[in-house]
Amino acid sequence: MGNKYIDLSQKSPKEAAEIVGEVEKSNYLAHTIREMELALMRTRRMHYHIFVYAATSPSCTKSKITFFDYCCEIRLAANCEKTDDRTIRLILAHELGHLIYNFDNLKNPEILENPTPSQKEEAFAWIFAYHLINVKSAYHKYTHGGGRFIYSTPELKDALSNLVRKKNPTIHGDVMRGIEE
Ligand SMILES: [Zn+2]
Repeated sequence: MGNKYIDLSQKSPKEAAEIVGEVEKSNYLAHTIREMELALMRTRRMHYHIFVYAATSPSCTKSKITFFDYCCEIRLAANCEKTDDRTIRLILAHELGHLIYNFDNLKNPEILENPTPSQKEEAFAWIFAYHLINVKSAYHKYTHGGGRFIYSTPELKDALSNLVRKKNPTIHGDVMRGIEE
């Protein structure tokens, strides 16, 4: 994929607006990401950046979050542009759930080097993902009165259930019970 931002200042105002106004899937939940950066600024005095990008190598089929001293990187799977909106939003929200879970550990990123999060953390991240997408769905419903980011509770639960079954089958029961509480 080419870099669409090259020579942005040389474009017409209309062309430039169209380029930066287009939302790629790797940029979904941008408002939530901004909120989380703000939360870290206001509670921890951290200028913490959350970068999200889509892997370019087709062999990258899993999404993951990696923590550094002043930022984290969320790498989405290479096929994310082709994944349906609801699924990709749940996956991205799940990675943000890992970040929330680790808010208190961000000043010691070495404790986040363990690449295998606990079952408890995985369950937290999925339950967070469900609630976040539910809240965003309601937001779209009330502010826009319709549109592609509105999901009914059963369809959201189904999508979550399928994802957890595929990615963390051992905690499926915990997660599904967790979203009912
Ligand atoms: Zn996870």
